[in-house]
Amino acid sequence: YSDDVLHVDTFTETKQLSEAFNKMLGRLKLLDESREEFVSNVSHELKTPMTSMKVLADSLLEMKEAPVEMYQEFMQDIAKEIDRENQIITDLLSLVKMDKTGQNMNIQTVNINELLEQTLKRLRPIADKKNVEMVMESFRPVTAEIDEMKFTLAISNLVENAIKYNHDNGWVHVSLNADHKYFYIKVEDSGIGIPEKDQPHIFERFYRVDKSHSREIGGTGLGLAIARNAVIVHRGAIKVYSNEGEGTTFTVRIPLIYVAA
Ligand code: ADP
Repeated sequence: YSDDVLHVDTFTETKQLSEAFNKMLGRLKLLDESREEFVSNVSHELKTPMTSMKVLADSLLEMKEAPVEMYQEFMQDIAKEIDRENQIITDLLSLVKMDKTGQNMNIQTVNINELLEQTLKRLRPIADKKNVEMVMESFRPVTAEIDEMKFTLAISNLVENAIKYNHDNGWVHVSLNADHKYFYIKVEDSGIGIPEKDQPHIFERFYRVDKSHSREIGGTGLGLAIARNAVIVHRGAIKVYSNEGEGTTFTVRIPLIYVAA
């Protein structure tokens, strides 16, 4: 009888082990696939400006005695593509640096009100170009333990988007609040909004709602992936609320005290 029990137990254990093993294999496979997809996306994104530059350079080379204005125009286009390539590489580097789930955090006690003021000040020239009104509202003074560089990147990306995907003469409201445990930042805009079906995907790397439109506006599709990573390495949360055609609100919640993993 006792042999029987032993037999059953060993059998169950083996079955459980094999299930756990299969589950792990499945996870590894998914990881490998997402890695592959990432590399293929990166290659594609980096190749697009290259292709344009090649076409522009080739057509210049083929032209015999083109007027100097034409050279200038083509070189300006090439310079634009170089800027774009640069932006993609810069964004990719910040993303890769942060992907290490919170390693290399440079944690300091930072005045968040000041950080927000500074960030808005830096972005004001872009807002002014579209005559977008930027307003900040602080409900209380907040100091928190954060990695200033990483956190600023997150907020910059959110505010930059709120300006970029806005109408001329629109507005951006940024607010800061806190309780005993967290601080909360809200970035609200009067812009074009995000269709409901796209909302679950906007934090994915390279995801853009309207590729042609976003390209015109000049994004890399990495801004929100960077913002989300920056929030996650602070053990925070980020959410989006939006109505197409009406505007978008991003909320960020970050613990006041940093807890290492
Ligand atoms: P991008 O570099 O294209 O701006 P992001 O990762 O920052 O990439 O954003 C992903 C996409 O989400 C954008 O292409 C845009 O379609 C959409 N999006 C982001 N923020 C906003 C916003 N405030 N209003 C409307 N659409 C937005």
